[in-house]
Amino acid sequence: MDRPIMSDSVMRMINAMSSPENRRGDVVKLLETYTPDVAQDLGLTSMSFDVDVPLTPGARGSGMKTSGVMFDNGGERAAEYIVRFETVNGGHIEAKATSAVEDPEQRRAFETLSALMFALCGKINSVTDLDALSVTDGLTNALNMSGLRRKLVPLIESGQLKEHVSLFLNIKNFKYINQKIGMPNGDKILKEFVKRFKKQFGEREGYIARLGADNFVVAIKSEQFSELSELMKSFRVTITGREGDAEIKVYFRCGLYYMTEDSTFDEMMNCCSCAYAYARSGKADFVEYEPYMMEDEHHTKKVLVTFPEAIQAREFRVYYQPKVRSSDNKLVGAEALCRWISDGRVIPPMQFIPVLERFGNINRLDLYVVDTVARDMREWLDKGIEPVRVSLNISRRDLSVPDLAKKIDDIVNSYDIPHELIEIELTETYTTDELPMMLKLINELKDLGYKISIDDFGSGYSTLTMLKTIHADIIKLDRAFIKDMKDSSTEDGIILRNVVHMVNELDIEVIAEGVETAEQVSFLSGIGCDVIQGYYYDKPLPREEFDLRLSDREWYSKR
Ligand code: C2E
Ligand code: CA
Ligand code: CA
Repeated sequence: MDRPIMSDSVMRMINAMSSPENRRGDVVKLLETYTPDVAQDLGLTSMSFDVDVPLTPGARGSGMKTSGVMFDNGGERAAEYIVRFETVNGGHIEAKATSAVEDPEQRRAFETLSALMFALCGKINSVTDLDALSVTDGLTNALNMSGLRRKLVPLIESGQLKEHVSLFLNIKNFKYINQKIGMPNGDKILKEFVKRFKKQFGEREGYIARLGADNFVVAIKSEQFSELSELMKSFRVTITGREGDAEIKVYFRCGLYYMTEDSTFDEMMNCCSCAYAYARSGKADFVEYEPYMMEDEHHTKKVLVTFPEAIQAREFRVYYQPKVRSSDNKLVGAEALCRWISDGRVIPPMQFIPVLERFGNINRLDLYVVDTVARDMREWLDKGIEPVRVSLNISRRDLSVPDLAKKIDDIVNSYDIPHELIEIELTETYTTDELPMMLKLINELKDLGYKISIDDFGSGYSTLTMLKTIHADIIKLDRAFIKDMKDSSTEDGIILRNVVHMVNELDIEVIAEGVETAEQVSFLSGIGCDVIQGYYYDKPLPREEFDLRLSDREWYSKR
C-alpha cells in the first residue's frame, strides 16, 4: 500500500504543533483536532494517546495529561502498534493504533509520526517553562517587569484597571537589614511578603511584581488599598539567626498612583515610581502622585545631565551681593552667589542647587565658586582695586568631602589671595552626624586664617547651642527674622534685640540679610546690627556691575 508519511493531514498536524504560540495547555486540544484526519490518511482503524508528563521541578502551572481514543472508525483490528517514550522526569507519552492488516510501511509511518509528536511536545514543554521564567521573578515567584506588563496591558486597554491603585514599594533600610541578618534572611523577607500578598489579594485581582532588589510594583483595586496598607504596616517576619529566632519588623516606603480611564502602563510605572522618589527623599512614607512631581523629575534629570558640560563651559557665573555698613553707607563686604546662565537665561540657584545637593554634585560647584572668586580677587588686586572680604556658601552636603579645607585652601593659594579676604558661610542646620565633621572643617579653616560665618542664623532650632559649640566669627541673621520686623516691642523684635546684644557681647560680628526697607535698616542699626545685606542696598550683582561699587566706595552715600 502506498502511504506517504508526509500526507497533507500529517503536514497540517506538524505545522500546527510547531507553532511558537503553543503552550503546555494547548497540546491535548491539538492532538484531538488533528488525530482523526491523520489516522484516516494512514489507513488506521483506531488511534489513541496516553500522555502523562509531570512538571519539571521549579516549573509553574500543571503538567501535560490526557488519555483516550482520538479516532476509531469501528473497523477490523488485525494489528496493534504501540510506541512509548519516557521523559526525563518520569513521565511518558504513549501512542497506540490498530489497523485492519499488518503493514510494515504503515507501522513505520505511525512510528515516525509518533516520534515527531514526542519531540514537538518536548519543545512545547520547554517553551512553556522558559516563558514562565521570563515573566516571573525567580526568587519570590512574583511577576517580573515583563510579566506585569503582559498581565496588565490588556486589562488597562480594556478599561478594567481604572479603579485600581498602583504602588511602587520599597523596604526601608533593606541594605542595612541584609547586612545585619544576612542575605538568605533578607531573601526570606522578600519571599514572605509576596506570599502574604498573594494569599490576601491573589484571587481578587491583586498583582505583584518584583523589579529587582527590594523594589516591588503592585496593582490592586482602590478599595483594597487600606487592607494592603494594613498588611504593610503590620508586616513582621520571623528569621532564624545565630542567636535563635528573632522577629523582624519591616517598614515600607511607597509611591501611589490612582489609575484613570486613560492611564497607560508606562504612565502607571512612571507615576508611581516618581511618587516613590518623593517618599524616598523623606517627604512621607506613603506619597500619592501629583503632576508637579513629574515636572520636577524632568527638571532634575535635565539639571543632572547638563551640569557637567555647563560647568566645563563656565556657564555658572558668580554674582556679588554687597554688604553695607549702614552708619556710614560704606561697602564692607559681599556674598558670592551663583547663577547659571543657560541660553542667555539667568537660572536662580534654588532651581539647581537642591538637585546638585541631592545627587552629590554640589561640591564641584562650590569649589568652582571658590576658584572664580579667588580669580576675580586676583584681578582686582592686580588692577589696584582694593577688594572687600567675600563670603562663599559651602553646602552641608560638602561636609563629607575628604580634605575639604585643604581643597579650598589650595585654590585660594593658587591665586595668592590673603586668607582674611575669604569668608566661608555654613548654615546652622545640621544633624548630630554632621556636627563632628562641621566642627573639624571650621577648626581647620580657622587655623588657616579664614573667617567663618553662620548662615541663616535663627532659622533652625539649635541656634543658642550653636553659638556655644561653634566659634564663628560672624552671624548672619536669617531673612525670616527681619521680614516682619516693625519695632522692637513685638515678640520677634524682643528676641532679635537680645540676640544681637548677646552676639555683640560674645564679640561675634553680626549681619542682617534680606533687608529691603529703610525702616528695617533703622530698626537694625538701633539694636546694634550695623552691617546690612539686602535689596535695600543692592541685589546680587554681576561682576562688571559690582566692580563699579568696588571702585567707588562712596556709591551708597551718593544715592
Ligand atoms: P543664602 O545663602 O541665604 O543667600 C541669600 C539669598 O537671599 C540670595 O538668594 C539672595 O539673592 C537673597 N536675597 C538677598 N537680599 C534679599 C532681599 O532683600 N530680599 C529677598 N527676598 N531676598 C534677598 P539666591 O542668590 O537666590 O540664593 C539662594 C540660595 O542658594 C542661597 O541662600 C544659598 O543657600 C544658595 N546658593 C547660592 N549660591 C550658592 C553657591 O555657590 N553654593 C551653595 N552651596 N549654595 C549657594
Ligand atoms: Ca549664604
Ligand atoms: Ca542666608
